[in-house]
This record gives sequence, structure tokens and C-alpha cells, in this order.
Amino acid sequence: MDYAVRVSHYVDPVTFELQRDVILLISGSHVAEVIVGGEVSGGLDGLAEHTLDFDSALCLPGFVNSHAHLDLSHLHRQVPNGLSFPEWAPAVIAGRALPQPMIDAGIDDACRMLVASGTTSVLDISVNGDSAPFLSKHGLQGLLALEVLGWSGDAAENAMQHADEIVRAKFTLDRDRLGEDAGDANAPVKLAGVDYAFSPHAPYSTSMELYQHAFGRAFGEGRVCTTHVAESREEEQFIRDGSGPLRDLLGKLGIDLSSFKGFDKTPIALLLDDWLMPWLPRKGSDPVFPSQKQGLTPSPGTPQLVLVHCNYAREDDFDLLANTKPSVCWCPRSHAYFGHEPWPLAKMRESGVNLVLGTDSLASNDGLDMLGEIREAANHPDADVTELFKAATVNGRKALGVGQDAADLAIWGLPPGDKLDELLQGMLKNETPLYAGFARGNLIARAI
Ligand SMILES: [Zn+2]
Repeated sequence: MDYAVRVSHYVDPVTFELQRDVILLISGSHVAEVIVGGEVSGGLDGLAEHTLDFDSALCLPGFVNSHAHLDLSHLHRQVPNGLSFPEWAPAVIAGRALPQPMIDAGIDDACRMLVASGTTSVLDISVNGDSAPFLSKHGLQGLLALEVLGWSGDAAENAMQHADEIVRAKFTLDRDRLGEDAGDANAPVKLAGVDYAFSPHAPYSTSMELYQHAFGRAFGEGRVCTTHVAESREEEQFIRDGSGPLRDLLGKLGIDLSSFKGFDKTPIALLLDDWLMPWLPRKGSDPVFPSQKQGLTPSPGTPQLVLVHCNYAREDDFDLLANTKPSVCWCPRSHAYFGHEPWPLAKMRESGVNLVLGTDSLASNDGLDMLGEIREAANHPDADVTELFKAATVNGRKALGVGQDAADLAIWGLPPGDKLDELLQGMLKNETPLYAGFARGNLIARAI
């Protein structure tokens, strides 16, 4: 065994129940054994190569940040507050042109923030794959969702080629699976714990052809695919009838919209009931999640869709969500930054989607700590704190394909309280120190 860890309080990642006086035995990247409630004669000595003993601590599954843009971290506090989405977007586009060393330094800092706040996995939307070496360096489990966008259908092939170039430059290709398609490129570095996914940007910026290319690839390879949808009122207006501030913004970016009159649908219906319909589970069938047995290793035929925001999901959209049951990512602090309508939490719960949480980028958020997201979300009148902690941990594992037995753990100072919901409330109301963090069985954070 590599590690034996004793904690006074432990939340089981499968049942999400609280257990007391627990010894975890970690071997390689997973938890090999959980010894509950029993004294082991002789204590931890001899159980493993390394031992950690916490008399008064709460061990939770590590946080999973299901939506981040680490390559925008250099814009932290650089974009003014109070902008609408169409006003904010050009500032971010300009920020992408800043020198690469600034972008890299921002990503490095962001990874440090993730580790220090108990996050162990992140689904990072990535334009150029820049975050891959930094996630690996900091020991985080990272899924880089390669972002593709482009309004013209003809541009779809080029966009996918750009994504392929990043894959060839940054990742070890799976020759067994891809055969001749793997070509003769070799990834320069083995990035343990880091893999890739696909992310068509949003229905107002990305053509049907490109969505279908990206989803076809992701689904064919059993990878995660994630997209922004129904983020703003302006997006809803533009997708319905082609008008409004987003039309002006896209026009300024040189996109020819002269013949575009909208799709006469909501953005969610456009994706789930039209563009992506051929790949989605049908009503009544079980949703399919990535394999949770082999870390982030993809398994062909197990697609998973992560829809980000869905702030403006409308009545019929919830039927589509209930039929297809994707993961839906709420970004509570970014949502508050833009002043959107209240997030439709009760309706999402009713529809049975896999609720996950994300930070979005530091261009619309002041931090990357998931406790901060849960604190913000807990202000929602329909919020249930235990449900939010699940969304930020085990539901995120399910969305990303992280194994249930993964040694991805965050060990916190024991908050006040006795039952699980009291302890979790206690974490939100107090400054709770992080004692240690494990990702893939590696000790990535250690405070005491
Ligand atoms: Zn985003």
C-alpha cells in the first residue's frame, strides 16, 4: 500500500453517507480498502509506506470543477463588473491576444488555486491546449475540452483540424483504438491524468456542421463533449429570431448574417431536439455515462454530454432534458456576476439531470474554489446543501468519468456539527482549512 490515512469523519463517494473513525488504504490511483469504525491494533504503522493520521477531520471526495476556462485566468479582475454578456465577450476576445507568458502564468496560478481549495478534477474548456502541462505539473486530474467554433459550415473541417493538431501535439494517441488514424505523431510529454474532450462553443457561434463533427467524434471515441447553451437572454433572442445585441456583436466580428432569421426555437431545443438528436439517448432509456472504472480513459460508445449554464431553460426544454438526462452545469458566481434570472434549480431537479457545478473563468468570477460556488448556490431559495456538495463532487465524477474508487480526496478540518448536513453547513459558515488533498493517489496538497 502507498498510503494509510485515518480520519475521524469520512463521506463515502458511492452512498454519500457519513462514516466515523475510518482508515483508507490507497494503492496507486485508487482507494483499495476502507476500514470503518474499527481500531487496527498497532495503529497505522505497517499498513502502508506512508501514513497520515487526522484525529479531527472530514474527508470528502475531492471537488470536481465541471466548467472552467483556465486560459482566461490572466484576466482576473481585469474586466469591469456590471457588463451584459454581449458587452463582456469582446473584452475577453481581446484578452486572448495578450502575450503567451501572461496566459501561462495565469494558468499556473489558477492550478495552484484549484489545489489549495480541495479541487482534484477539472473539465477545462481549452482553445489551444495550454493548460495540459500545468494540470499535470500540479497533479490535477484534467479533462481538456478542446473548443471549436465558427459560424460557417465550411469552416467545420478546419476547426476540427485545429483540435486534432492539439491532440497530436499534447497527448499520447491511443494506437490500439485509432489504428492508422493515429498517424506517426508522438506526443512530446506523457501527461499523466490529463486527457481531452470536445467543446463546440455555443449555438450562436458554432454551426450545425461543426457541432455534428465534434459530437460525432466525441461520441465515437466515448469522450465527454460539453457546450455552453441558453446562457443569456440575448442568446435566446438571437436563436429564436436572429435579432438583438448578439446579432450586432457577430456582425462586428465579420460574420455575414444577411440571410439569417433565427431558428424559431430555444437554444436547448435547437441542440437536443435537432442538431444533436441522432446521438442522444431516447426517452425512457437510461442515460449513459463514461466508464467510471478506469479514471479518465475513454471507452467507445459511452458518450456524455455536459450542458453548461442552461440559465434560460424554458418550459418545453425541461421535457427534452428529462428525456435525454445530460449533465447540466450551474456556475453560481458567474451567474450572479451577469445578473441572470434565478437559476431554474427546482425544475432541473425535477427533470432528473445530473447536476454539476463549475466556476467558469476568472474573467467573470473572483475565485476558483468550489466551496465559494456552493456558498453562492446555497443562497438560492430551493437549495439543498447536501445536494450541492454532491453536485460538486460525485456528480462531477460521473460527468467526467472519474472512477468511484478514485483516490481523489480532500481532507478538511472538522467543521462544527454532528450529522452530515450539519457538518456541510458548518463548512459553509466557517473558514474550513484544507489539511490534505489527494488526486489519482498522489498527495497534491498538504497543510499540516
Ligand atoms: Zn464558459
